[in-house]
Amino acid sequence: MPIDPTQSYDDQNIFAKILRGEIPSRTVFENEHALAFHDIAPQAPYHVLVIPKGAYVSWDDFSARAEDAEIAGFVRAVGEVARAAGLVEPGYRLLANVGHDGHQEVPHLHVHIFAGRALGPMLA
Ligand code: 5GP
Repeated sequence: MPIDPTQSYDDQNIFAKILRGEIPSRTVFENEHALAFHDIAPQAPYHVLVIPKGAYVSWDDFSARAEDAEIAGFVRAVGEVARAAGLVEPGYRLLANVGHDGHQEVPHLHVHIFAGRALGPMLA
């Protein structure tokens, strides 16, 4: 079910539990700003999620409330994950679902990185 985009941050969401180490994930990258791990139900040969360490519901919440240093650190982390995985050539796709119509299901901001095949014009 998509989340209610107006909800406040729920610290019991699944990605908050992954950040606290309460449930396992296949981590590929971690620094002070971000954690990246494989999606549990991959939709491409490479499907990794990058999440900020801070408590932000969505891209909207993050872009409105986060400090500039957190935003820069998170954006750089996404790029670093992709570069470290050798994705720059032939390329990859970033996606951040927001709210109901964006079909965001987990209420902690996450950026999907898809790669490993030609992805076509859009993931509908
Ligand atoms: P959304 O639709 O919110 O943008 O995407 C949520 C993503 O989180 C989905 O691709 C889903 O497969 C992934 N996911 C949900 N629960 C877990 C989990 O417990 N572990 C991991 N690694 N991924 C999860």
